[in-house]
Amino acid sequence: MSDATSAYRQVRIVLVGTSHPGNIGAAARAMRTMGLEQLYLVAPERFPHADASAMAAGADQVLEQARVFATLEEAVADCRWIMGCTARRRSVVMDEYAPGDAAARIWQASAAGATALVFGRERTGLTNEELKLCHAAVHIPSVEEFSSLNLAAAVQVLSWELRREALARAALAGEPVPQAPEDEPPATVAQMEGMFGHLEQMLDDIDFHKGRAPGTVMRRLRQLLLRAQPDQREVRVLRGIFADAQRMARIARESGKA
Ligand code: SAH
Repeated sequence: MSDATSAYRQVRIVLVGTSHPGNIGAAARAMRTMGLEQLYLVAPERFPHADASAMAAGADQVLEQARVFATLEEAVADCRWIMGCTARRRSVVMDEYAPGDAAARIWQASAAGATALVFGRERTGLTNEELKLCHAAVHIPSVEEFSSLNLAAAVQVLSWELRREALARAALAGEPVPQAPEDEPPATVAQMEGMFGHLEQMLDDIDFHKGRAPGTVMRRLRQLLLRAQPDQREVRVLRGIFADAQRMARIARESGKA
């Protein structure tokens, strides 16, 4: 994989709620040195800012082309594979990758579409809601009692792992491995979110929860379905099943009333 290939353009680095503009500039520089250029910013506290440009130290183009969004969901709406970088273990049940394995997974997924590596706020990281949008987590195995890297340093570690993996693949293959075109494209984030909303409503309609809070079971089902990476046809089939279950529940309710 050479720098000139479009592969690097398939990978975006997403910084959520960054408070220090200097960190945005330092992250842009970290990316630029490793061939990455797609910088997406979600609700940065101050941007554009002179400190960002100063810390970018010449990686101006990455900063100038950075795209700004109000929410993480919008920033990754068209992505096929999303990984959230976390400094600490969460209660959320999700797969966790080490940086090198994450890089391999990103390159694999980027053959089929856009991918994202998401980084959280300096003080508080990513919210559980934001992590729920991710297919898996990435943790740099730092020492436990001081686990949190500076944001731009974390971006540098992951950017390097992506480049290391790309160089290793290029050395093995001589050139990028062509991927067979898929007949049915994987579901987009927006389609997956639509399906999760439908699933939750359907479970409610068939009285699956029986008064229990739906949060835990929905989190587990989300992880199960995200792990399966359904394609668009599979999402349509699942939603067809949900709609039928809702219809049967409605009929049962109405005949109960009659
Ligand atoms: N106190 C925050 C730390 C945020 S550091 C927390 O506990 O989450 C800012 C961001 O850098 C994090 O949200 C994460 O995306 C990234 N980061 C820092 N240290 C990391 C680590 N050890 N592994 C993976 N990502 C890390």
